[in-house]
Amino acid sequence: MQSPERITLFSRLAAGILAVCAILFVVSWSTFARQTDGMAVDVLDVGQGDGIVIRTPGQQTIVIDGGPSDDFSAEVSRKVPFYDRNIALLILTHPHEDHVHGLVNLLSDYHVERVALTGVVAQSETYSEFLRLIEQQHIPIDYVHRGKVYDFGERVSMHILAPIEDLHGKKVDDLNDSSIVATLQFDTIDFMFTGDAGENIEKEMLADGDPLDVEVLKAGHHGSRYSSSDAFLDAMTPDVALISDGKNNRYGHPHKELLDRLTQHHIPIYRTDLLGDIEVKTDGKTFTVSP
Ligand SMILES: [Zn+2]
Repeated sequence: MQSPERITLFSRLAAGILAVCAILFVVSWSTFARQTDGMAVDVLDVGQGDGIVIRTPGQQTIVIDGGPSDDFSAEVSRKVPFYDRNIALLILTHPHEDHVHGLVNLLSDYHVERVALTGVVAQSETYSEFLRLIEQQHIPIDYVHRGKVYDFGERVSMHILAPIEDLHGKKVDDLNDSSIVATLQFDTIDFMFTGDAGENIEKEMLADGDPLDVEVLKAGHHGSRYSSSDAFLDAMTPDVALISDGKNNRYGHPHKELLDRLTQHHIPIYRTDLLGDIEVKTDGKTFTVSP
């Protein structure tokens, strides 16, 4: 027969092992839960500009543009866990101030694995500083145009649709039309990010390939009347349109003609100037938009 002391010791040992098992179970479960959480796409309220943060189901961060202010890095940190300082891919659609400015601080605050840009020639102090920091940190650059594909695993991929031609080292008349246009696919849900590309580029994309059925469209050029043409909307058939624009901006974005066009196509509109940050969450089959 065992002594009462030995029984107590045995029960304590068993309780200890059970507690460790329970902790291991909770930790592994929460890790699993995080990895199967789905995808979040945040069009941040950066004022008049674009700044988009994507968290993939595998917890990778993708950033498209950085808005016109120094606050962007802090805004990104609200959307990613505090312990994650890694950005898998940083995309600059084109080197205008309202897209590149916030990326300078971001390069200092985060570890960026890869940068995608067109390499188009532009005279801008901010853009030069952005390129200098990339070089200083030895970050690999992809000079992208139509055809480039990124595979992020977990059924998530990104396809670059424009510019149609390689613009690396080239000068262009209108930097807006040099914008990187990309789709992001998670299973059956497709997003389209258009930078500030205008209807000329939309026409070129349509002429060069099959119409794409997307669920979520980030409307081109902050809701300009010269983007998101009827032909483009007919081909893309988006379920919702997101517009990234500043309150009372001096360009009059979004233009009334564009808002009317979207309404005629029965496409619900979400605007950062009215709603603040806009978040789209998806499990790859359905999606929700908030607020
Ligand atoms: Zn812009």
